Amino acid sequence: MANTQNTNKYEIVIVGAGPAGLAAALYTSRSQVPTLVLERGVPGGQLWNTEDIDDYPGFGLVQGPELAQKMQEHAEKFGAEIETASVTGIWSEGDEKVVETDDGTQYRALAVIVTAGGEPRKLGVPGEEELAGKGVSYCAVCDGAFFKDERIAVVGGGDSAVEESAFLTRYGSEVFIIHRRDEFRAQSLLIEQMQATGKVKNVLDSVVEEITGNEKVSGLKVKNVKTGEVSDLEVGAVFPFVGFIPHSDIFNEEIELDEGGYIVSNEKMATSIPGIFVAGDVRSQYVRQISNAVGDATVAALAASAYIDELKLRTSKAVAGS
Ligand code: NAP
Repeated sequence: MANTQNTNKYEIVIVGAGPAGLAAALYTSRSQVPTLVLERGVPGGQLWNTEDIDDYPGFGLVQGPELAQKMQEHAEKFGAEIETASVTGIWSEGDEKVVETDDGTQYRALAVIVTAGGEPRKLGVPGEEELAGKGVSYCAVCDGAFFKDERIAVVGGGDSAVEESAFLTRYGSEVFIIHRRDEFRAQSLLIEQMQATGKVKNVLDSVVEEITGNEKVSGLKVKNVKTGEVSDLEVGAVFPFVGFIPHSDIFNEEIELDEGGYIVSNEKMATSIPGIFVAGDVRSQYVRQISNAVGDATVAALAASAYIDELKLRTSKAVAGS
């Protein structure tokens, strides 16, 4: 049976405590809006899988876990409460939102900010998990600069793989794009831009079978799917871009998603469901960086607070008029 908790205690529930969730919590709690953050893992989210961050303004170089702890402390300083729980359902009941977790607990709030993030689709090959952060990276903008003058591999044939291959030529001595078919899925303009760098070598009809290295990536075992031949490719880093899985499957009512499953929002980060706002990697957007996640979360927090103020005003007028 559902266990309804904390009715009237929280006005905003934030789903996910990555950089977007923690930034939203900072702004809502600092605005005196009682805020609960639900996170199934460790507050900080993907920051815990990122070693060096050198593109977050004001920090020079900061370790992901350190930034995660600072963001958590900052949100808690203003009164945000963070609980460990996995959200399995969100729906509206009148003016209230109900957020249900996997143990059946239901939290009621006036607004919800969804900052549930997502995850890069993995290759699922030996070495990928062990060498994550040690040459296996899913973010070229974040980590490309650490592999200056090294040979770099990219896996995938979509827009991300092709665009990031071109980007990585700024750093790599050579960039290899490994794709399982003989034709890229990416837009032709992006393919032309990649080819125009003159530094990307196509490894087509090929899949990565293993990522090798001890303390750090040293190479790949690559299989040609047409001939069956397996060869070694010496590289210092590999960036799989084989798709991203947004955590947007937590709604019990229809919400507008784009073709990739990301949540669509307007300039106030409001979704198609009134009272539900979104920020961070789960949002349909152009780039997925810590800095814009934090910026969009700020907008979502202030817009959600304003939504609650309007809702209360409307309710009090209705009561006065009845
Ligand atoms: P995507 O379009 O889904 O492409 C994924 C690529 O990875 C495909 O080429 C696919 O091969 C390959 N792949 C999937 N699973 C694989 C596996 N297990 N092993 C090896 N290869 C695998 O993903 P995306 O490139 O990240 O793009 C996501 C969305 O963002 C798209 O809608 C894209 O248009 C958009 N986007 C746009 C821009 C831009 O406009 N500048 C930039 C980035 C992303 P197959 O082709 O054989 O299926």
